[in-house]
Amino acid sequence: MYRTHTCGELRLNQVSTSVTLAGWVQTVRKFGSITFVDLRDRYGITQLLFGEALQPVLDAQPLGREYVITVTGTVQERSNKNTQIPTGDIEIAVEEFKILNKSAVPPFTITDDTDGGDDIRMKYRYLDLRRNAVKKNLELRYAVNRAARNYLHEQGFMDIETPFLIKSTPEGARDFVVPSRMNAGEFYALPQSPQTFKQLLMVSGYDRYYQIVKCFRDEDLRADRQPEFTQIDCEMAFVEQEDILQMFEGLIKHIFKAVKGIDYTEKVERTTWEEAMWMYGNDKPDIRFGMQLTNLKFPQHTFVNKQVAVPSTTKGNAEHAALESDFAVFNDAETVIAIAAPNCSEYTRKQTDELVEWVKRPQIGMKGLAFIKCNTDGSFKSSIDKFYSEEKLAAIAQACGAQKGDLILLLAGAEERTRKAASELRLEMGKRLNLRNPNEFKLLWVLDFPLFEYAEDDNRWVARHHPFTSPKPSDIATMINNNPAIENAAKYLEHPYANIKANAYDMVLNGNEIGGGSIRIFQRELQEKMFAALGMSPEEALHKFGFLLGAFEYGAPPHGGIAFGFDRLCSILGGSESIRDFIAFPKNNSGRDVMLDAPSSIDDKQLTELSIKLNLA
Ligand code: ASP
Repeated sequence: MYRTHTCGELRLNQVSTSVTLAGWVQTVRKFGSITFVDLRDRYGITQLLFGEALQPVLDAQPLGREYVITVTGTVQERSNKNTQIPTGDIEIAVEEFKILNKSAVPPFTITDDTDGGDDIRMKYRYLDLRRNAVKKNLELRYAVNRAARNYLHEQGFMDIETPFLIKSTPEGARDFVVPSRMNAGEFYALPQSPQTFKQLLMVSGYDRYYQIVKCFRDEDLRADRQPEFTQIDCEMAFVEQEDILQMFEGLIKHIFKAVKGIDYTEKVERTTWEEAMWMYGNDKPDIRFGMQLTNLKFPQHTFVNKQVAVPSTTKGNAEHAALESDFAVFNDAETVIAIAAPNCSEYTRKQTDELVEWVKRPQIGMKGLAFIKCNTDGSFKSSIDKFYSEEKLAAIAQACGAQKGDLILLLAGAEERTRKAASELRLEMGKRLNLRNPNEFKLLWVLDFPLFEYAEDDNRWVARHHPFTSPKPSDIATMINNNPAIENAAKYLEHPYANIKANAYDMVLNGNEIGGGSIRIFQRELQEKMFAALGMSPEEALHKFGFLLGAFEYGAPPHGGIAFGFDRLCSILGGSESIRDFIAFPKNNSGRDVMLDAPSSIDDKQLTELSIKLNLA
């Protein structure tokens, strides 16, 4: 028998028991005529004591780091206890041992604070996975998986597998394709999501479906994306948006409770996409803190570059008036956006200079940043004193709801860039002011997304979510009765399609989109109109999605669903920014598996079998 117990299991009450353990050698420490070895397995570390009698055997068969051994001995109380580990009160007085396998010297230390850099750890991921830090992440991932399955099972959902070798399911990325040997010249696409299958399952009557499933998207890997990633993919029939929101905030709350012990009893907040864009500058706002943006210009108009109308909650002309002066930078700018950072009025010159440099970084791309210090004595001090009297500064402060002690940051420039910069600056200030506590979790539903987005390159509309998302009922007529063609690209915002809203929703957690979905189109006619709106000819629509259009003719029920980014959800719950830490075998930023060295070339024979000729530039 290799083992009677694990290395994480033994305690004082087992003293005098004879045990057999197996595991990996973490460290070997020789003290005169005795040797201590830390033995590690998935469950913990146990100290082994090799007494004098065993030294000659050890000398003949020395133990090295990561050797796999099995030992038999007696549990005894340690004289020198280690309070850092659960087994720290005991040790094993070894009577006999056997080396099961030797190990080469590992390329990095298998410890929490390893000396291995990212690349080497990825190359030897199987060794990295032995580290506690990584193991904890995979345990958390499994806990999230279990919690999700339990909840969905209780709610009557069925896990149904869908195929990987399919035809394109568009989610806005390129497909990964797989050549078919048996059908020369033809290719499967790997699913970007099981979207069409889950809709077909609704047609088949499986009214509550879920799957924790791999999705494949060939996109340029912006930071922390993976070409294959996992979704908790769900679909329900006979539901309206409200049913979905309730069901799936229930899922996330259940996961919070099961995995983190958190009772999320507060109401999950909701906002519209327009409001989110307006107040936070992006559609996945982190609402753990305030510091909303104040748009000091064009308060009563639509955004210049995006399909956003100002919600009625904004204060309108008061802000506009506050800006009046002959300050050309503000006057000439398309937009001026202010953020009131709480209790920062005493920022030093060095601190404000640092913020100026921060907004000038190429990723942010602003030319500068203006300040107004709202001093605690009620006076104001500003980098734009020259152009704004004390009263004007007070008016601006009032327009952005700044309090005494706040520091107002002002960004001016082209609308889209300035809004994005303001959104980033808000997050950065939130970070600097420790307002983004990783142990605090704040959920938000973002609703009422636009149905279409304008694709400049092709001068046409694309689906913002995917082509199966339904328009708001009140917007269906606008979609059906208007020609999708955009006559004047510069004025695409004036096209009626720009204002059509979708029955779509995203769930946001701490500033990350963790899930998104929609109520679907379920009538063939409307789906055909949708494909046409996206510039697809009827023949193309039939070729690509004939199966779905066909299915809609056989009694498709109203349905809708959502998918959660499983890797991302795990990383947020684990307090990490990186999803790679929560994936057993991740790819690097160029989509490579450096351990397998994949992708890699294939030999000519295989190419011939697949009827493929390479045409490498
Ligand atoms: N298939 C969608 C996605 O992957 C989710 C959904 O609409 O349910 O984003």
